[in-house]
Amino acid sequence: MRLPYEIVAETHLRKAEEYWRRDRLQEARAAMALALNVGMPASDVYDRQRTIDAELAARLAGARLRVGEHLWVEIPVTMTSVARNALLTATEAAWLEITTASGVRWGKPVLVTIFPEAETTVFLHARYGYYAERTEAHKVCLPPFSAPSGGAYRRAARHEIAHAALHDVLGEAVPRWFDEGVAVWLEGGSDSLERRQVRIAAAHGRLPTLAQIDAALGSYQTSLDSITAGVAYGAAGAFIGWVMAAHGSEALPTLLREARRRNALSKASRAVFGRDLRKLESDWRRTLAVGNQG
Ligand SMILES: [Zn+2]
Repeated sequence: MRLPYEIVAETHLRKAEEYWRRDRLQEARAAMALALNVGMPASDVYDRQRTIDAELAARLAGARLRVGEHLWVEIPVTMTSVARNALLTATEAAWLEITTASGVRWGKPVLVTIFPEAETTVFLHARYGYYAERTEAHKVCLPPFSAPSGGAYRRAARHEIAHAALHDVLGEAVPRWFDEGVAVWLEGGSDSLERRQVRIAAAHGRLPTLAQIDAALGSYQTSLDSITAGVAYGAAGAFIGWVMAAHGSEALPTLLREARRRNALSKASRAVFGRDLRKLESDWRRTLAVGNQG
């Protein structure tokens, strides 16, 4: 049974969530403070509180710049103009690469927010930053990078904007393994450490299934610098890479279009690749086993 104070707290929390989705961060923060004041059981509520605080800090310390019709960037005003221009160029390039590779026709703009300070982002339960759909925009939040024009930033921006593209096309119905697999593939594939972790897991017969990857990446129990996370991201990315390599650059846009039309990823896979996901997955696993013997 819920106690009266819990019902009050949940009302404030729902308000906080609603404001956050509208990107109205001052109001979100105030509602969250009320919820916490009344008393909330410890849970991922505290992550949401820190998310709102970090995004609000970025809002207060930032300026919002329009890069294109479907791309906005919110960056700290303290950035030098050289760094700002490098970041805008790199962000636009990443956005364009993802737009082309996914074939998305943006239903709403992407807003890339750069947090002003690394310390405010230590709470992030994420590979680079995070993507979260908002009412007016696809919001991508990234920690500050020391070299915004460098490869690390481009990789992170591609990864998170890829999530935005998938959600623009498919809405909420994106399985976690597919979401991360496509994002890892579009960021440029796994790094050498992840690839090694995947090879070792495969050699020992411990490569997770897509269903297990889904569970691992969806769980707050999985620490993101753990081998479990590395193998999950790496295997999902490798599977998507294997499927796409065999079918050319139009494969992903076609698959996404079909998945949207049929409202089901596996049916789309059958239509586009002639095999459902389960069959594709087992074919892919066989190639790994052959590779290990060689
Ligand atoms: Zn991701």
